[in-house]
Amino acid sequence: MALTKKEKAKKIQGVLDFLYPSPKIPLQHQNPYTLLIAVLLSAQCTDARVNTVTPKLFEKANTPGKMVALTIEEIEEIIRPCGLAQRKAHAIWTLSKIILESHQGEVPSSFEALEALPGVGHKTASVVMSQAFKQPAFPVDTHIHRCAERWGLSSGKNVVQTERDLKKLFSKSDWNRIHLQIIYFAREYCQARRHDAAACPICSIL
Ligand code: SF4
Repeated sequence: MALTKKEKAKKIQGVLDFLYPSPKIPLQHQNPYTLLIAVLLSAQCTDARVNTVTPKLFEKANTPGKMVALTIEEIEEIIRPCGLAQRKAHAIWTLSKIILESHQGEVPSSFEALEALPGVGHKTASVVMSQAFKQPAFPVDTHIHRCAERWGLSSGKNVVQTERDLKKLFSKSDWNRIHLQIIYFAREYCQARRHDAAACPICSIL
């Protein structure tokens, strides 16, 4: 008899806990502000590349006050390897100014306030809520969206639906860990164009 989604989720979680018992946050950062900037930079860019750029950026500016002391052009020049540099530099400078003027220089810790910042969508806000403020959130990126569909946990219609489906299948207290575990798994085993079912420890048990 076919497994229910709940049963599949339980088996998947068992494998992920075995493979990645304590997954580290992939984007290097020092505090909620630098995490927010790193996540913003990771749009359409790999975490590895972001991690090569952020040390240079944070050496010059690791607080909103220091960031607005730079010009948008200076930020753009540093972050160019991440792509979409003009748009990202503008968002980084503007959100830093808003954080200074409206949030006493601290990154706000609510979805509503985060999503009101320029360049910050629901996924970015979810990463910050989860990884910086340890609040339960399930950021769905392209890897999680792909795996959820391949595992039959979600229809794959869109990321909003995937987030809704996954939140129902996994315990709230596990969301912050499991979203990282799925990302690590997807990168190692379940890539968009390449997957080796014979070497993979998941689909064969579903
Ligand atoms: S068998 Fe393929 S699709 Fe299934 S989890 Fe493994 S890598 Fe992904």
